[in-house]
Amino acid sequence: MTDADRHLATVRQHYPDAVTTVETVDRQFDLLHARYGLRPAQIVLADSICADDVISIEYPERAYEMVGPFKLGGLNGFPFAGLTGMGAFAAHVPDEGAVYVYHAPHIGISKDGSVGTIMRLGQHKPSGCCGACRAALAKLQAGQITPGEVDELDYQQHTLEQILLAQGPRIAAAAHPLKEATEVIGEAITARIDLLAARTTYNARYLIRVGAILINGDHDMGSFTSIRRMCATDLRTGVTEDLLPAYHDRSA
Ligand SMILES: [Zn+2]
Repeated sequence: MTDADRHLATVRQHYPDAVTTVETVDRQFDLLHARYGLRPAQIVLADSICADDVISIEYPERAYEMVGPFKLGGLNGFPFAGLTGMGAFAAHVPDEGAVYVYHAPHIGISKDGSVGTIMRLGQHKPSGCCGACRAALAKLQAGQITPGEVDELDYQQHTLEQILLAQGPRIAAAAHPLKEATEVIGEAITARIDLLAARTTYNARYLIRVGAILINGDHDMGSFTSIRRMCATDLRTGVTEDLLPAYHDRSA
């Protein structure tokens, strides 16, 4: 067993359907080609993922075969670029092509199995991941989040705090509060992406939405992905197809 296999096995103790992010990109490309005849060059990629540098360091190489990425996300992947961001990249699609939106909060799991920390390049002590989510959770647990307080100087972080505050009892009751807080933010991201997507006009045939939990490993291990939804909307008919069963079926 290689180090990478061991790390994946550790990640799967928490996210049983996780695969390496390299594999998830391969699987999705295969599926989109088989189902819609789409090649990566016909797809404009927008991602809504955290600003954390580890996300860029561990970005999957094949994702660059798509056009982009357009960056929708701010802290922990919330789509802070808003309607203007969605509208901008939606106009950049090749004819008969697709808009692909990947959205995910993230959480670190290091080789030793600790959740919420990773070893970063050149460092010898683990550090927090997602740092923004951990900070917001710590403030929630200390009872220090004021309802409705969103300061312009720390707008993104305060927005995350308000999202957690709204689900305070659920997070407090969870066996693993950081994992639960990550789920809560993931659900808020999904809802906001759907709201933005419904109010956007596309020069495209398809709108593909993929929601996930992005799991960062230590810097030399890459990242892992647990896909939570994958759906494609035919923008001519308005019909949305759930692709998750086919994604999970390797023979599809
Ligand atoms: Zn983060």
